[in-house]
Amino acid sequence: MMLEKEYRILVVDDAKDTQMLLEFDLSAAGYQVTCCDCGEDALESMETQEVDLILLDMYMPGLSGLETLARIKAQAISAEIPVIMLSASTDEDEVVAALELGAGDYVAKPYVAKVLLARMRTAIRLKEKTAQLEYLAKTDFLTGINNRGSFFELSNNAISLAKRAGQSLVVAMFDIDFFKQVNDNYGHDAGDQVLLAFSQGMIEVFRGYDIIGRVGGEEFAVCLPNTSRENANLACERFRNFIEQLSVRIISDNNVETEIHITVSIGLVLAQNDSLTIDELLKLADSALYYAKEHGRNQVVDAIILATTDESDNIVVSLMNTDEIDNNNLLQDSVIMTNFDGIDFDVGVSNVLGDEDLFKEILVMFYQDHHLDGDKLQSAIQEQDIDSVKHIAHTLKGVACSVGAMDLFEVTKALDIAVNDDKQEDFTRLFSQLSPEINRVMQGIKLQLDVS
Ligand SMILES: [Mg+2]
Repeated sequence: MMLEKEYRILVVDDAKDTQMLLEFDLSAAGYQVTCCDCGEDALESMETQEVDLILLDMYMPGLSGLETLARIKAQAISAEIPVIMLSASTDEDEVVAALELGAGDYVAKPYVAKVLLARMRTAIRLKEKTAQLEYLAKTDFLTGINNRGSFFELSNNAISLAKRAGQSLVVAMFDIDFFKQVNDNYGHDAGDQVLLAFSQGMIEVFRGYDIIGRVGGEEFAVCLPNTSRENANLACERFRNFIEQLSVRIISDNNVETEIHITVSIGLVLAQNDSLTIDELLKLADSALYYAKEHGRNQVVDAIILATTDESDNIVVSLMNTDEIDNNNLLQDSVIMTNFDGIDFDVGVSNVLGDEDLFKEILVMFYQDHHLDGDKLQSAIQEQDIDSVKHIAHTLKGVACSVGAMDLFEVTKALDIAVNDDKQEDFTRLFSQLSPEINRVMQGIKLQLDVS
């Protein structure tokens, strides 16, 4: 019987004559054989070479067969390798002990070659079957990438690792736009071909150590370990573009070959809170994805905008749509540092994915729209026009946060809360804190940028 591949067998036996016999019989059957005289050597040799099966003598000087077996099963590198024990003794207690320690089988010496070879084949086949079953249990049957369960397991491991190493990690969710139409117009086989092409694209665009998975029908996800928010946005934008350019050749139900084009909506989130699990991160990414779907599809949305839109309705939303951002700018590291009084430039720039020029344009707009807010607030407070106070404070709070004016954000937030709690007695005091802060920020912008 021919072997499907050249399996490597490690023979561990202190008796030279047994080694020679085994080497002869096994080689004749098509195996590659390596021999070791003792358990210590065997353990060492497994660190450097791959082994498909181990034949292990029960009685050896130094480490006994059982001790060697225990060590083989204790180390990850060799734990899965099938072991067949060889012994002249037929002590049943020993056989039981060996099987309990994880030996796959037991063959008496002197061995009958035909019997030993049959048992070796069975042990190897069993090992391969188990590996195959494990693979199937973790793999999406259609695309061959991680299924939902495996994606969750691997991602949670990656999250724990990232926590320990203090590295940032990003999770993104993908949904193929109008996928139902593909199924409706061309049939489910065509739909499957699209899913397959899509997953191939993920394998191509993302890195080898990124964890990709199919988490629902036309929903996919990726977990990006050791990745900054900026780079994750870049990678997702690159993938969005890749899918947009892709033409998928499908055979429709009536046997006509057609090329179709698809787009993808993407939501992503940076894991910031230490206690977040993959379920929670996917929910946040999914909210961003939902936002992308609601705002025209075929785009990447960072969950950070959801936090800022809550504060100020729709004010900063358009800033985060990566469609509007020139990718070339994103690739340049921000070399020039600019100082704006009262503004955390890094925060502001990172809110627009690292595009400094875009951020400066936004600062100009911010100045134009809000440099009179201090005066407006003052008169609204004097006239007890609570609606206006509320509107200005609420809007300014959201915008201040998105441009990185964090001190201004804090004092405006306090006023916003006072308005909501109807604490009018606090308005004047809070305004006296807000007023110099807004002047500081506006003067800072005016000094650096052309705001006329
Ligand atoms: Mg011996």
